[in-house]
Amino acid sequence: MSGRAVVEGVEVSTQHWIGGERVASSGTFADISPIDEATTAEVARGGPEEADAAVAAARDTFGTWGRTSPKERAEVLHRIADGVEDRAQELAAVETRDNGSLLRSMQNSVMPRVARNFRFFADKLVALQRSADADYDGFGEQVSWDPSGVTVVITPWNAPLMLATWRVAPALAAGNSVVVKPPEWAPLTASMLAEITHGAGLPDGAYNVVQGIGEEAGAALTRHPEVDRIAFTGSIDTGRLVAQAAAPNLTPTSLELGGKSPFVAFADADLDTVVAQAVNQFDNAGQVCLAGTRLLIERSIYDTFLERFTEAAGAIVQGDPREDATDIGPLITRQHFDRVDGFVQRAKAEGARVAFGGGPNEVLGGLYYSPTLFADVPEGSEILMREVFGPVLTVQSFEDEDQAVALANATEYGLAAIVYTGDPARAERVSGRLVAGTVWVNCFFVRDLNAPFGGSRSSGIGREGGVWSFDFYADVKNVCAAPWNEEG
Ligand code: NAD
Repeated sequence: MSGRAVVEGVEVSTQHWIGGERVASSGTFADISPIDEATTAEVARGGPEEADAAVAAARDTFGTWGRTSPKERAEVLHRIADGVEDRAQELAAVETRDNGSLLRSMQNSVMPRVARNFRFFADKLVALQRSADADYDGFGEQVSWDPSGVTVVITPWNAPLMLATWRVAPALAAGNSVVVKPPEWAPLTASMLAEITHGAGLPDGAYNVVQGIGEEAGAALTRHPEVDRIAFTGSIDTGRLVAQAAAPNLTPTSLELGGKSPFVAFADADLDTVVAQAVNQFDNAGQVCLAGTRLLIERSIYDTFLERFTEAAGAIVQGDPREDATDIGPLITRQHFDRVDGFVQRAKAEGARVAFGGGPNEVLGGLYYSPTLFADVPEGSEILMREVFGPVLTVQSFEDEDQAVALANATEYGLAAIVYTGDPARAERVSGRLVAGTVWVNCFFVRDLNAPFGGSRSSGIGREGGVWSFDFYADVKNVCAAPWNEEG
């Protein structure tokens, strides 16, 4: 095994990164591009041995990295951000080849956000220090966010580097060292980040990458007794396994899981915006945890909405994600394609009406699945209750606010909700009653890194963003001191 692959003209290491060195494994797995199902790279397939080595390297470096000041760490993190910005075009090209997301989104929003993750959390911790200090009856309360040790980060493939760095950046800023297990369906940019961290002067062992399959490398890391934090993003089923693996060690775990978010539009909303944003839920071929996949439309505008929606959806250009004209690309793998198609076929069998699309894109073939909308879906159908994670939406109508809220809250998920209305009082009433970590009113996907983010119900455990991230990655300490005797 050469240990390297050339992807879109960029040379990428396919080995692990442990203690500042490239490490091979005896086995590999094939990384296949969703664009054309060609093998992009043979990647090292780690397991318990590599997990042990990476955790040991991380623990070793924690001894020094954890003793640096937040300000010193912030300087390194800003240099990492510089490195991401310098290599943004290469990172974008490799990640698009790896996961099939639009190249222009990678270039214009994803990679800038990756850099911002580092800058934001670096500065945030510096600003937080001493911000919560208080005085209690003369007793001084001094709050600090202390480093907590080794953080394991496990993430999915739909936005690999953005989701990884959303956890890696605050963990490093907090003084922890990190072991990343990238998604096996899009593993390459985490490997490129290793070189960037090295070039930025991050001490060897503070950022480690163990490549591999979830059940092998991921499971070995989550059950590891020397791990102090587990940050997991992925499906609810895997989230349960991660929580079980962490339980014997009582390892604190932050879980960002799946969604089945409602998109609620009232008749008093601006219909042009509602239609445009509803169609926008097909973004990234529906492989977006936050997507408002259940369209709930007030009865009086339902028919007009449906007509306008199908017209707008008909204009979506599906194709190679590297081309400028493309709106949505392929699904990630054949396995996932079959899973999505299974949902669609079962929905049809349950009697749901195909209002748009309804199957693979026969013209493009490969892993391209047509944007699909189901209407008249029988109550309780699987397609209404379970996350598909593909370009498949449902539409239902409602009569009034109570029914809108009841339908919106009718699943086990609680990641996000989207509400369109022209009435501020209604917006406040409805958003107050929705069960969701984030409610967007007349907007979607607006993400301030200071804001709390996470899922209610089965969509997750914990909140990150701003101070919430440090409440998880750090050991929050309060030093309570009696008043000093003035005479000494
Ligand atoms: P997944 O749960 O199959 O895999 C996620 C990660 O977990 C991968 O890196 C995988 O290798 C690893 N893994 C698998 N089995 C494991 C095990 N037994 N122990 C440890 N790690 C293991 O999810 P996926 O299909 O990659 O991603 C899609 C899911 O992620 C969807 O449900 C989506 O909604 C969710 N997601 C959530 C958010 C969020 O912020 N809440 C963001 C993006 C995606």
